[in-house]
Amino acid sequence: MDTVRIAITKGGKRLPYVVCDNPPRGGMKYTYFAPDRSYVIQFYNNKADADYNTRSRIEAIIGRYNPTLSERHGGAIGTDEALAEYYAKRFCWPSDVVVSPEFGIVCPTYPKNFFFDSAASDVLNLFGKDKKSNWFTSSNRKFLHKTELGDFRTALACSILLARSVRRLHQAGLAHSDLSNNNVLIDPCSGDSCIIDIDSLVVPGLYPPEVAGTRGYIAPEVVATMDLDRRDPRRVYPSAKTDLHALAVLIYEYIFHRHPLIGPKINSGESAEEDDRNSLGKNALFIEHPTDRSNRPKVLTDSVQTAGSILEKLFLRAFTDGLKTPSLRPSALEWERGLVRSFEMLQKCGNRSCEHRWFIAEKNSICPFCGHDNSGEAIRFHFYNAVLTNPGEYREIFQIVSGDNSPLFSWHFTPGIIPDEKTDRTLLAYVVRRGKDWYIVNSKLHGLVDSDAKILPPGRAFRLTDGAMLYSEKGVLIETEIK
Ligand SMILES: [Zn+2]
Repeated sequence: MDTVRIAITKGGKRLPYVVCDNPPRGGMKYTYFAPDRSYVIQFYNNKADADYNTRSRIEAIIGRYNPTLSERHGGAIGTDEALAEYYAKRFCWPSDVVVSPEFGIVCPTYPKNFFFDSAASDVLNLFGKDKKSNWFTSSNRKFLHKTELGDFRTALACSILLARSVRRLHQAGLAHSDLSNNNVLIDPCSGDSCIIDIDSLVVPGLYPPEVAGTRGYIAPEVVATMDLDRRDPRRVYPSAKTDLHALAVLIYEYIFHRHPLIGPKINSGESAEEDDRNSLGKNALFIEHPTDRSNRPKVLTDSVQTAGSILEKLFLRAFTDGLKTPSLRPSALEWERGLVRSFEMLQKCGNRSCEHRWFIAEKNSICPFCGHDNSGEAIRFHFYNAVLTNPGEYREIFQIVSGDNSPLFSWHFTPGIIPDEKTDRTLLAYVVRRGKDWYIVNSKLHGLVDSDAKILPPGRAFRLTDGAMLYSEKGVLIETEIK
């Protein structure tokens, strides 16, 4: 029978928790819930793991490295209340240390949208289970209810948030060390993601990695040197660089629902284990390698090109040169920015049976997933910045695709801004369609002029024509493309 016990935190707080016979158990810890399930208390499976180093690591993670706690309350430097609140949704970050009845940690419960609800989980009896990424990236997908699967747009949204969270860790000098489809929760319905199991974070030079990682996400150089002695200088351990391999694998899986390195190629006939070790280690080969096709599956639907040229380049770097040379892997910031730029080129597919529902309309409006022609349903804006060394010359920086009722923000009218968690999201203008005509409605933008230097004041709508040029007060040239 369940009984309620009391955990005492380092600061003397008394936290009740419900002891049950079979608590959820992971590799390192087991979990008890608060009576109202608002937090969990975790204790270590192996009490020897809760040594001095672990305790000191956890205290640093809860305090000075904590992006979910404002600097004013003892959290990470530069974190205000709004940022702390933002990252509290992105990480399940430990919030306190338990000292009695034994050493343990307190963590917030995952937000509700990261648990399967009854209506959508009948086939596998998933009600109440957490949405670890592997439900959505593996063959498990086919058992899930359609309403749980999300679409191409929400896959990009999950990827942006994950890349941003990893970028935040790396900016603070931390490495997760065990990013995998078990340690990232995603909600493909809303495009939300949350990193869990934070307590094994690596602080370079201070707290070394404790785990090698999870199969399929461990960087090839770590897999290839696992058999070496711990003191052998050639042995490679998890770090921010190896996180970047795991990050690229996860993003590829969210978008394409397959693993980038697991293909048909056999690397060793000795044993399945050795083949696996080689295929993910020293002989790792991208299944979509542009010249070596020996690991390419016979049927490969939706090649990497379908994700648009920005992401294609990042994936190729991560899984060709970056596989062998960790310093060439795209950083989390590059992923975040590339994903944000790609997200802004999304167009809705009008084919009702198109499973992806959205696609990147980079050059035209034909959906690469189903072939449906969506021409006329969106317009494209090209954004140019002035070349400072050559007055009068402009260079294209990015483009966006806007459908009916698409918003425009500060980053569209100011050079050098790529939106992140700190960016002002006040609506400045929006695009609407009336019949076959497209309009820009200026809500709050001052200094917007057309190519005849006519001012387009706030509160007014202006018809857009193919090739029309607009200039923002901050020096951005915007060219309209209507096809
Ligand atoms: Zn389509």
